[in-house]
Amino acid sequence: MARPTRVLIDLDALDHNARVIRALARRRRLMAVIKANAYGHGMVDCARVLASHVDAFAVAFLEEAVALRAGGITTPVLVLEGPLSEAEVLDFTQLDLWPAIHANEQLHWFENAPQRAITGLWLKADTGMHRLGIDLDDMPAAIERATTLTAGNVTLMSHLADAAMPESLLSQRQLARWQSLVDRYDLETSLLNSASTLVQSTGDSDWLRPGYLFYGGHPDGLGEVLDLQPVMRLESRVIAIRDIAQGETVGYGGRWRAERDSRIATIPIGYADGYPRAARDGTPVLVGGHVVSLAGRVSMDMITVDITDRPDIDIGADVVLWGDRPTVDDIADAADTIGYELASQVTQRVRRRVVSRNMPDSE
Ligand SMILES: *Cc1c(COP(=O)(O)O)cnc(C)c1O
Repeated sequence: MARPTRVLIDLDALDHNARVIRALARRRRLMAVIKANAYGHGMVDCARVLASHVDAFAVAFLEEAVALRAGGITTPVLVLEGPLSEAEVLDFTQLDLWPAIHANEQLHWFENAPQRAITGLWLKADTGMHRLGIDLDDMPAAIERATTLTAGNVTLMSHLADAAMPESLLSQRQLARWQSLVDRYDLETSLLNSASTLVQSTGDSDWLRPGYLFYGGHPDGLGEVLDLQPVMRLESRVIAIRDIAQGETVGYGGRWRAERDSRIATIPIGYADGYPRAARDGTPVLVGGHVVSLAGRVSMDMITVDITDRPDIDIGADVVLWGDRPTVDDIADAADTIGYELASQVTQRVRRRVVSRNMPDSE
């Protein structure tokens, strides 16, 4: 019998979320960011569902785009880091991928390519994130060169460093620089990710470019207003229960100490599965339909929870580590990280099951 720990991917929830986001986008164009294996949800499975709702996909680098094309996805694909070497340019033209160009060198590679036709090119301006992007002073020349390369199909893009806080000094500075750039050209624009879409940032953006929202996440604690459903559920079952006396401790280092006689349940999931070792005592875990608290350090293969107040919980009880309740964002809060990191770091040893009304169960 297999270990009960598994990750469920609910493609109907993804389809639902895509409809909600499509409606939110109104007449703007919509790109779904599915880099990093669709934030751990399974890139090709997700792309097949999303393809009918979005105008394009975005991935981080070429190999991810190649995997999409190999999976039969014909939707336009933007590669957010563009080609990383001149040799990659050929793959962009052959697979009809849109490069996000962030450095003049990359323009040069496309100009040198024997077969130059690319159907779309995005030019990334550095408005203050200072990670990728062309300096604002160099943008006019870059736009001219990009226009020649793609018969005019150029989209201007930039990325906000503090997207959830449009009033912050950093956002205001970026938004001002962005607006003064895009106002000078009659080109399509793309600025807004999940958080800035939710706060209705004022930045000009013909294209929305969310990722995390599609998976039902709440970036920066935002998004409760939207009716989104979590696509991922990480679940297991109780495999052991013991009674311990007041004063005893549980787990490595004895971090958790019983303040009364206590009942402890053990669940076979640990940091080697992607459950965060940084999770504090008190982190919520749903056991047998009740929210109980993590008690003791997360081990490599197991966690322990305090079920003293839940005498009805037995061996074999259902466990949800994250899903509807608690959400992945709740667990991230308890581990000082973000849900993006947890979702994308569920490891290979966790069994995966994809569910959908339109699909026979598949493991
Ligand atoms: C990852 C990424 C996004 C999507 O961000 P979310 O917060 O998931 O919406 C958008 N734009 C760029 C440039 C990115 O790298």
